Amino acid sequence: MARSLELPGFVNAHSHTFQRALRGRAAGGDFWAWRDTMLAEAERQTPELVRCTYESTYREMRLSGFTAVGEFHYLGLPEAFAAAEAAEAAGVELVLLHVAYARGGLPRFRQESVGAYLSQVEELRAAKVRVGVAPHSVRACSADWLGEIGRYATEEQLPLHVHADEQPKEIEECLAEHGCRPIELLARSGCLGDRTTVVHATHADGAELDLLASSGATVCACPTTEADLGDGFLPAERLRARGIPLCIGTDSNVRIDPFEELRELEGIARRQTGRRGVFTIDELHRFGSELGGDALGIESWPGIVIDLEHRALAGVERDDVPGALIASSGGDVVMG
Ligand SMILES: [Zn+2]
Repeated sequence: MARSLELPGFVNAHSHTFQRALRGRAAGGDFWAWRDTMLAEAERQTPELVRCTYESTYREMRLSGFTAVGEFHYLGLPEAFAAAEAAEAAGVELVLLHVAYARGGLPRFRQESVGAYLSQVEELRAAKVRVGVAPHSVRACSADWLGEIGRYATEEQLPLHVHADEQPKEIEECLAEHGCRPIELLARSGCLGDRTTVVHATHADGAELDLLASSGATVCACPTTEADLGDGFLPAERLRARGIPLCIGTDSNVRIDPFEELRELEGIARRQTGRRGVFTIDELHRFGSELGGDALGIESWPGIVIDLEHRALAGVERDDVPGALIASSGGDVVMG
């Protein structure tokens, strides 16, 4: 019997790599308190620090089976180039999801206009950095900015990633400002289509999920981060019932392990439905690789090799290995 198994590499469709530094910190009593600690960490980033720490974290991703990453980047343009260099050095395919930030956050996150933001995107593209556009959220971008960015993404056929419905407060603020919920605003602004990935969608209601389904958008679930931050549960069964594509991300990088993200995804669905095998093993593997690649607009990325003699897999029948990877393995079963 073969002692190893080749698989497609996993795709980490949503990462804020600098947040790896926060693991283990108490960082306050809820999402908003954690966010203050995160902002302080963001403030101290430099191109040199990004170049160094991102390379080591991308190597950790590579070791655990992620061979492609979407870096949702809001630290500034020099740091974007540093992240691209770090990924190249670590041997990970990178899509730099350059973030548009009109308001809130830190001054370093913000561009002075949507035109200035799109110029930054053009600069990255001219330097051959593979990019997607990323209005941070409906909190951070006005409807005008969303409209311009949606138009540009459509014209240029670029991936568009955006956070939405992670926390109830964001929805309340959107209702107060726009009279609609975040995913409804994305639809109205031309930001929802089949190259769109909505990150989280934790608190999306039925009408918002219907919009995701009819537009062909993908949802990126980040279950270990959503647990860590107290966001809530992905509406897994409701997404599945509508046939909405799913992919995974390590987001704050508290954990870097594709099998754990997929196990959490299925675990949430089981707790919600009282059933086992809500997603098939094949579906879960596709969420982890192929659909992540689709979300990032990439067609190829390196494969991985699984050690079938690892203690987590020893004695498992060959046909049961794909299931055992998700049920009971960690990223340390990846040999390279
Ligand atoms: Zn995020």
